Amino acid sequence: MIELSATSKTLSDNQKVYPLISPFNHHIWKIGMTMLFKFFLFFLAFVFVGGCGGGASSSKNSTSSSSTSFSSSSSSSVSSIAVPISYEADGSCAEGSPYTLTITDGYRIDPEHLEKLVCNFFVTYPKIVALLSPNASKNIEFVFDPRSPYVAAAYGTVIVYRTHYLAGAPDDTDIVVHETTHAAQAELIGELPGWIVEGTADFVRDLYGLDSKDIWSIPTRYANSTGDYLSGYGNAAAFFKWIDALYRQNELPVAAAISRATLAAPYNDDLWVDLTGKSLEALWHEYKSFPVTPPFTTGVSVFNGANFTGREIKLERGNYDLYELLALGVTDNQIASIKVPHGYKLKAYVDINFAGEQMTFIADAPDIDASMALKISSIVIE
Ligand SMILES: [Zn+2]
Repeated sequence: MIELSATSKTLSDNQKVYPLISPFNHHIWKIGMTMLFKFFLFFLAFVFVGGCGGGASSSKNSTSSSSTSFSSSSSSSVSSIAVPISYEADGSCAEGSPYTLTITDGYRIDPEHLEKLVCNFFVTYPKIVALLSPNASKNIEFVFDPRSPYVAAAYGTVIVYRTHYLAGAPDDTDIVVHETTHAAQAELIGELPGWIVEGTADFVRDLYGLDSKDIWSIPTRYANSTGDYLSGYGNAAAFFKWIDALYRQNELPVAAAISRATLAAPYNDDLWVDLTGKSLEALWHEYKSFPVTPPFTTGVSVFNGANFTGREIKLERGNYDLYELLALGVTDNQIASIKVPHGYKLKAYVDINFAGEQMTFIADAPDIDASMALKISSIVIE
């Protein structure tokens, strides 16, 4: 079904906000992304104004408050969601998705950037929902507001982006992941402590972010200069990753387990004991005290981004089980590319204790085979 109608929206000011945003009132045009791709192309040609299309047309003078709404005729009760695995420049990233995204005032940002934000949503949001809250809303709205006091803020299932920030940060597309994590947890806002909410959003951005790893990352280990877990964000996210590596191997990440448990019953710090066998305080003390090995300056280089991007850490000859890797700042399941100098050999294992599937590298590997990429948990270098 395709319809055109005039609409506008004002958010009530009694909704929970992370962080706070200013009230706003906008004309809206909607892009429902669940329609057949052919319909999408048809409308690109005739009525689409900006958005996740070819990026060719945008209107800066949308004085007519027309909105374009697409909806799918297929069932939305999809438990196994087929999502594309990468951006598609022609907008087909939305094809067949049971999710919908409403764009308000998208003309205010660069069409190519908008397309990447929208496509990022259709790639990552289904994964976020599956991880954290399978019954979360499938309908999200993005608002682009020059007056927003925050870079971005989630307001229930409405995400408000400050247009000036996006104009100066064309490579920041994974901001979508952080904010839509809040949207997926909308019913937990106010229920979960704020540090867990923000730590989970950065944890999920680190886990599912597509291509902003060069401009954004969480700490590799505890850094007392930046605050404790109660400061949330990257500090809490790094803590969660460390907990997963040592206490929840091959289990649901602790941030997701906390989220799901709190959907079922009120949050309580005792959850940490249930999930890890240790109290929150004990875990934090151990994390803070975790040994840090001085970095090597020679040897094999491992990167957490493909094509030798992201964080580089060098490893000399030796055996590195997960504990030793963590002490060097190499986090679990985060190696995406490897540089192997002449004369070195790296054996990688998908499990701790040098077990599980194994692969040997004797030359540079800019894009590790999918069977091994982001799965390495122990390493031998000869
Ligand atoms: Zn946040």
